[in-house]
Amino acid sequence: MGNLAIVGGVKTRVNPFPASPVIGEEERRLVNEVLDTGQLSGFIAQAGDRFLGGPKVLALEALVKQHFSVEYAVTANSATAGLHMAIAAAGIGPGDEVIVTPYTMSASAAAILMANAIPVFADIDEDIFCIDPDEIEKKITPLTKAIVVVHLFGQSADMDQIMAIAKKHRLTVIEDTAQAPDAEYKGKLLGTIGDAGILSLNQHKTITSGEGGVLITNRKDIAEKARLIRNHGEVIVRDNGPESIMNTLGWNYRMTELEAAVAIGQFKQLDFLTEHRIGLAENLSEFFKQSAYKGITPPVIREDNKHVYFLYPMKFNAQKVGVRRETFVKAILAEGVPMGQGYVEPIYMEPLYQNKSAYGNRGCPFSCSLYKGSAQYGKGLCPVTERMYEFEVILLPLCRYPIQIKDLDDVKQAFEKVFSNLDELKEYEKST
Ligand SMILES: *Cc1c(COP(=O)(O)O)cnc(C)c1O
Repeated sequence: MGNLAIVGGVKTRVNPFPASPVIGEEERRLVNEVLDTGQLSGFIAQAGDRFLGGPKVLALEALVKQHFSVEYAVTANSATAGLHMAIAAAGIGPGDEVIVTPYTMSASAAAILMANAIPVFADIDEDIFCIDPDEIEKKITPLTKAIVVVHLFGQSADMDQIMAIAKKHRLTVIEDTAQAPDAEYKGKLLGTIGDAGILSLNQHKTITSGEGGVLITNRKDIAEKARLIRNHGEVIVRDNGPESIMNTLGWNYRMTELEAAVAIGQFKQLDFLTEHRIGLAENLSEFFKQSAYKGITPPVIREDNKHVYFLYPMKFNAQKVGVRRETFVKAILAEGVPMGQGYVEPIYMEPLYQNKSAYGNRGCPFSCSLYKGSAQYGKGLCPVTERMYEFEVILLPLCRYPIQIKDLDDVKQAFEKVFSNLDELKEYEKST
């Protein structure tokens, strides 16, 4: 029996970390209001006021609009739906290419396929894990219509350079802000810099209504079309829709009054929850900077950026630490501290892209006769992303309320313990 928990020693943290989210009195009160009315959804798919949803949906949209200082907020039943709405509303469709990072939740790219367009993957900047503007430029073709920018882990992509590229090539910019509500780039809230931004309210995000999403935009045309796509647009375009019916085919992406009620209560906590996250993360960063463990790099924060730490990402260098990433993570986990590695596989490695088959079994939309390009999805396509996924990224999912700074003592102690017993861990690695 050794010191480290992985070889039978005493665990650093025995009790689980406090669970999120915390649902408050305000959310309960608002949900009860909805239950008392019996009207659990306010939407009807016909022209008139109720095409836009019930009172709680409208109240949530008003709050979001005000908070982000944007002209339009359009709720949906997920951020995935919101992304699809934004892409379709921007007029993107069959034959078009949309540039996106492969290092993100699958939906950021799947939403492009939902509009029958083709995702083209551009590699990331290895300091901030977001799409690299220079790589975007390399992927632009005459077919490129848009860029889906993902502000990964809570920090902004390099928006000045991305917006300049978009302007030069007349591309729409959609900001996937699911992981970065309230994060800022040069004083601007993320989601308000491009043509549209998407927030997520799913169970795991900073604020939640279980499932839900919101599209924010200053473009009237995008907001109006998004509302049609959200609510069976085809039934009302004859008399009340825009002049062009392109991409008005509607899904049912409507948010219920119950979700909107919870989201309103949660939304009022966003500032507090964000500051809490930042406080925890800065405490961790202080620790990692002071301890200066060889082979562990704490998050890099770009100048004039407000990172909101949906996840706390670090880089791991196996050569410097002396054990494989997998072994190190196992040792930390054994100490009772949750930690992830790699994040997600580069999206293009998913079978859908490897087999180039999204709809039916004849290669649609990749082999569609309207598509004149040749998007590639082979291994090696985005080497930086692959290296982050396979070797370097480690993630602490602990910068969230109600975890407190005192809980982080156990995280620090676990790292301290593993680093003081590296020889023991090397022995363990040899034996496995
Ligand atoms: C969570 C997430 C989504 C999808 O959000 P849903 O609300 O679950 O549809 C999209 N993009 C990113 C980057 C996410 O983290």
